Amino acid sequence: MHDDASPARTAANDCKEPGVLAPVIDRNRCEGKADCARVCPYDVFEIGVLPKPQRSELALGGRIKSFFHGWKQAFAVRAQQCHACGLCVAACPEHAIKLARPRTP
Ligand code: SF4
Repeated sequence: MHDDASPARTAANDCKEPGVLAPVIDRNRCEGKADCARVCPYDVFEIGVLPKPQRSELALGGRIKSFFHGWKQAFAVRAQQCHACGLCVAACPEHAIKLARPRTP
């Protein structure tokens, strides 16, 4: 029987070439607490303010939550540097980050 791959184990053993996977941030969950930015070894994230057009795309709960956090959110501004270590996924207290294959244009 296989062990479940904990995020820490994933981080230690399964780093990939950059660009294979990238973080996807759930805008309805992110509160801009910056844990992802602190733990990412590749400086993928910056904390910024969600632009107004994207605010209207949030669900009601996400809008209320984001409003009370000053619309602060994490942005994967250097997503192409992601090595899929999983540290950000494990660190996010809001469970707002998943790793996925980057979308092709
Ligand atoms: S998976 Fe690792 S390298 Fe990729 S964004 Fe998260 S912390 Fe950074």
